Amino acid sequence: MKLERLLSMKGGKGQDSYANNSQAQAMHARSMLHLLEETLDNVHLNTSASPPPFTAVDLGCSSGANTVHIIDFIVKHISKRFDSAGIDPPEFTAFFADLPSNDFNTLFQLLPPLVSNSCMEECLAADGNRSYFVAGVPGSFYRRLFPARTIDFFHSAFSLHWLSQVPESVTDRRSAAYNRGRVFIHGAGEKTTTAYKRQFQADLAEFLRARAAEVKRGGAMFLVCLGRTSLDPTDQGGAGLLFGTHFQDA
Ligand code: SAH
Repeated sequence: MKLERLLSMKGGKGQDSYANNSQAQAMHARSMLHLLEETLDNVHLNTSASPPPFTAVDLGCSSGANTVHIIDFIVKHISKRFDSAGIDPPEFTAFFADLPSNDFNTLFQLLPPLVSNSCMEECLAADGNRSYFVAGVPGSFYRRLFPARTIDFFHSAFSLHWLSQVPESVTDRRSAAYNRGRVFIHGAGEKTTTAYKRQFQADLAEFLRARAAEVKRGGAMFLVCLGRTSLDPTDQGGAGLLFGTHFQDA
């Protein structure tokens, strides 16, 4: 089963859409902005006479406003670094990347209007305007998405816990890792959790391999991943109770 063709956050702007149900992610992202800043401060700036555009990517952008705020923050921060160095900032390009099933139409409608050429610099600081070019990129971040050495900065938040597939052994009745048809790992046996762990390790390795090829020399990456407070991998805490029992029953 090709999960990447099936799954997506709920699109649109309705009551149950991702756009209207991502405040928790927004709050956590805000609490990490100082760490993002620290990472951005270490990105190499191309100060040559006519530099190529500074290129930032949000991987697993979904269809809410969080990704727009993050890209805006990245562009403004890098721009400020150029200003403080007394150098005109380059042009900026932002790529919003997610699975093809993501509601890119809704995301594009959330983007503020692009400032006109004549006021690119004056308007850079003005809120409600966009001072960067954008494109949507459909595809799995577990594979290559960009040409080699073209990206200055990768950002990805709350996305890397999505695996590329359900491990095969978990759905195989003859396997010791068989999860009895359940869709969640909460309370599962050790063999099942090991299968998921291996899948995560293999996926993360593919992710890093792809980004290593795509990032420019001196570029950087900022990843926000979910974790758990318990050492027991089958203990999914509150989410485990919610999804492992109620969701499964439904
Ligand atoms: N970063 C956003 C959205 C997080 S939701 C925020 O902070 O609000 C997680 C997103 O990751 C979803 O939109 C989902 O479609 C995307 N995603 C999951 N697996 C992916 C994959 N293999 N490649 C690209 N995007 C993926």
